[in-house]
Amino acid sequence: MSHTVYASLPAVTGACLDPCDADQRANVPAAAGLAALTTALTPRAVRVLGQIEQAQQDHPDVAKFLGVVAQEIRKAGDSAAVLDDVLQLIQQKRTAPPAPCPVYSWCTETGDHDEHFSAYVTAPTLDAYGRDVVPVGLIDWGKGVKVGLLDLDLTPAEARDRLAELRAHLDHVEQFIALAERGATGPAVDVEHARADQ
Ligand SMILES: [Zn+2]
Repeated sequence: MSHTVYASLPAVTGACLDPCDADQRANVPAAAGLAALTTALTPRAVRVLGQIEQAQQDHPDVAKFLGVVAQEIRKAGDSAAVLDDVLQLIQQKRTAPPAPCPVYSWCTETGDHDEHFSAYVTAPTLDAYGRDVVPVGLIDWGKGVKVGLLDLDLTPAEARDRLAELRAHLDHVEQFIALAERGATGPAVDVEHARADQ
């Protein structure tokens, strides 16, 4: 039993009681004794506690948290200071920078998440329609790291194969450029060479 409760006993009964004296405690009427064991609640606190009880039924996902708040209000006897503290905690959480991904240094997701994405890197130029050229990034949907390339989720080995093909393709791009630079007197032959290399 707390000091606060002991201290409130005489006020309730209108007499000076020694709580350690069993006979005197027996003289406290049952209702008054019960009231004395509970910190007096302000009407505001009673109203807020009612609202909290309703909210616990409406939002079971936060019922436990609301239970803690209610407990603090009952302890304090009033709701104002407790609600101020809760508001402050919520604001602190809102303004705190979101936690970085705990799994991958390349992941751009923050806070709680199961699917991981890196930033996408594209070729420095857009095509004529304003679309990204060969965007690439990393992803993990929960089954290991994949390389996002050519609109596919590729294993590292698969991505290496595609990369080799793309590198060879860039050689062909270069061959066409060289043809154009030469004035392209016999492009058909050279283009066929390029195709044969593929
Ligand atoms: Zn992540």
